Amino acid sequence: MSDPDTPRLPLGRLSFVIPCYNEAEGLPELLRRLGDLSDELLSKGLIAAPPLLVLVDDGSTDATWEIIEKAAQAPASEAGAGTPRVRGVRLSRNHGHQAALLAGLLSAPGDVLISMDADLQDDPAAIPRMIEAHGRGAEIVFGVRSSRQADTAFKRRSARMYYETLRSMGVDIVADHADYRLMSRRAIETLRRYDEVNLFLRGIVRQIGFDTEIVEYERPERFAGESKYPLGKMLALALDGVTSFSIRPLRYATWIGLAAAGMSFLMVLYSVVGWAMGRTVEGWASIVVAVFMLGGFQLIALGIIGEYVGKIYMETKRRPRFIVDEIVGPDPEDGP
Ligand code: UDP
Ligand code: MG
Repeated sequence: MSDPDTPRLPLGRLSFVIPCYNEAEGLPELLRRLGDLSDELLSKGLIAAPPLLVLVDDGSTDATWEIIEKAAQAPASEAGAGTPRVRGVRLSRNHGHQAALLAGLLSAPGDVLISMDADLQDDPAAIPRMIEAHGRGAEIVFGVRSSRQADTAFKRRSARMYYETLRSMGVDIVADHADYRLMSRRAIETLRRYDEVNLFLRGIVRQIGFDTEIVEYERPERFAGESKYPLGKMLALALDGVTSFSIRPLRYATWIGLAAAGMSFLMVLYSVVGWAMGRTVEGWASIVVAVFMLGGFQLIALGIIGEYVGKIYMETKRRPRFIVDEIVGPDPEDGP
């Protein structure tokens, strides 16, 4: 860590990376809030110039892109001196949150990048503390929600179970951290080297290493619109988190198989001994149960193997992770 007496502040150039999928309802408020934040950061001397907002439109079907385009084309003279500039990146279709975020992170200029959701659930009030943590030497600052008051009881419980499961599988992940985080240019350039197609960002950033810090924040309700993460998508992301970072499920499958085989061996012994002692085997039920149980175990094991084979299949094709349709706003070459 660098010497705390020589803080690396104010920051050089700060960019925000914000994936947006049908966020037209909430975007104007987001832009307003980030405008206020920019003024605050400038007046506190945390940044030297207004930030750049990189808004990634993930194939929205509402007015999201129109709003982004308009914000990006607003002439600088119209806005106040501290107003952030906006760059719009439009993906060719809906690629999903993780891909949209990656598209933004890999294309955004700036010395420091902060990724956040478009719905104001990643409370901007935590940003000064994130920047201060970076000033103390952290290359990555994780935004961690201090409570889950705004979540349903179901989401709270399933999230807790999920983090416990991941940990038990040996996956290193920051609990209650989604994708609200600050990353230095150095961390971003390191992230670039992870070119796997199936990217689970919050797992990958733990692999990067360097000095990191955690900043807690209260997660409010979504500002407008509804969650773009229905249960199905959430489960898919959860499964990706496990299979991208751990092969333990395969090993569990082997152990379960071994245990089942061992049990069937004991059952054979039992019936042979019973037969020798003149006891006939009645157990229709036990046979049916055993058949179903073994069949179930086998299918589970096959499913697990299938998950990994599928992953290998996707990786070998090396398809692009996102496709950019167009970019509007400040010239990508000259940075913020
Ligand atoms: N998002 C996206 N593509 C998608 C789904 C979501 O870019 O296919 C964005 C969305 O606009 C938001 C962020 O990802 O900025 C998080 O989504 P959401 O707030 O719906 O998730 P939740 O907070 O409910 O988990
Ligand atoms: Mg949200």
